[in-house]
Amino acid sequence: MARHPSSVIGKACTESNNQCGRSLCPPSPTRTVMDAKQARELVKSEWDTLVGLTVDLVRAPTENRIPHGDEARGQKVLADFFAGCAVEIDTFRPDQVPGITDHPDWWQGRNYTDRPNLVVTRRATSPGGRSLVFNGHMDTVTRAPLPWQSGDPFSGTVRDGKLFGRGSYDMKAGLAACAMVIKIIAEKGIETGGDILLQSVVDEENAGANGTLAAILKGHVGALAIIPEPTNLKICPQTRGGQVFELIAEGTGGVAYGGETIRNPISTLSEAIVLLGRYEADINTRPHPGLFATERHPRDLVFSKLMAGDTPGGNIGIPVEARGEFFIQTLPGMTEAELHGELRAALAPVLSNATAPLRLEPTSRYLSGADTSSENAGVVALLEALEAVTGERQRAAGATFGGDGYLFNKWTSTPSVHLGPQGGNAHGPDEFVELESLEALTATLLLHAANWSS
Ligand SMILES: [Zn+2]
Repeated sequence: MARHPSSVIGKACTESNNQCGRSLCPPSPTRTVMDAKQARELVKSEWDTLVGLTVDLVRAPTENRIPHGDEARGQKVLADFFAGCAVEIDTFRPDQVPGITDHPDWWQGRNYTDRPNLVVTRRATSPGGRSLVFNGHMDTVTRAPLPWQSGDPFSGTVRDGKLFGRGSYDMKAGLAACAMVIKIIAEKGIETGGDILLQSVVDEENAGANGTLAAILKGHVGALAIIPEPTNLKICPQTRGGQVFELIAEGTGGVAYGGETIRNPISTLSEAIVLLGRYEADINTRPHPGLFATERHPRDLVFSKLMAGDTPGGNIGIPVEARGEFFIQTLPGMTEAELHGELRAALAPVLSNATAPLRLEPTSRYLSGADTSSENAGVVALLEALEAVTGERQRAAGATFGGDGYLFNKWTSTPSVHLGPQGGNAHGPDEFVELESLEALTATLLLHAANWSS
């Protein structure tokens, strides 16, 4: 993955402080201050508080409706949760971080009025250890698609071991788990040699990432960043990346009552869709890098919108335009230019047809895949913590999604890793998180924070 050494943020990796946590560093021993049984018991003792926080976060709708989002109400729930707790809280708008709008990874066009990032820090009690960063996004996709069978999308209903609601799985349960870990550490007076931070960021959905970029540029970094996106309790040091594109086909419109030739943009768009289907099949037969090597279909191409024609009940006739939106996944190591080259080659027969114009335009930032080594000392320690809590052998896996994590790898010396709860229906109706997995996740994060940062 491309790096910009002149802009890398965070403490330099040296043998004496071993701050970066990479496998290249001589590993410093992880001091055991807590065992899995103690971690589970601490989480159990705070179970009602943890579930209550998750419900409160779900009941505070924080939909991301480009260009704005409603994260402020969720950030208030989180700030209230830490009232009276011995932590520092930093709130700031992403666009007001000095220099950010000139940063190469800043994405223009979003409105950050009343959309604060919130960073909670529990300072080290005996400095000199490794700092641990939790990162999660407070925004959710919208309540659509509707209808929901489980009730109101923001009910936070708990039934049969599941907590339902938009954002429950992606990713308010993960945020709640991290907040609970910091609160337990602060209130129980658990000693840590490094700071424990929670970045609760705005604007991740729809390839946002400006919120995490802002938290990084403000210097909220450490030796490892854990992102509790929904991974079904898999530890994922590598993620997919991707980008959103729009296809715009132009036609002449009307009906050929006079015998004239009329270009139908729906036909042009249909040809493009067929070609992209072949492209998706082809790219998934190629060798895949890293943790994706054994996956059969690691690169999804998902059509999310098709638009053409008049409103229902409108005219019969050929429209003047047809649009299609799709998201294509990439894997670590692929650049934006390489992706664009692939797509242009796949669509060449329709893009080169001058009599049926078609344009291909990216409509989001390019998300690189996050690419942390599964040998990284922090990842290995996290695997051991999850194994101790679940009693099951754990192996690193590639994440099924992309997100903000790559920004840590690209711009800081803080490698990122994903570990989140089990659940289902992310971005769909009846989203839910499995509460049993929330308990295991929180105990794992607590165990890791207490020992890794000791
Ligand atoms: Zn997410």
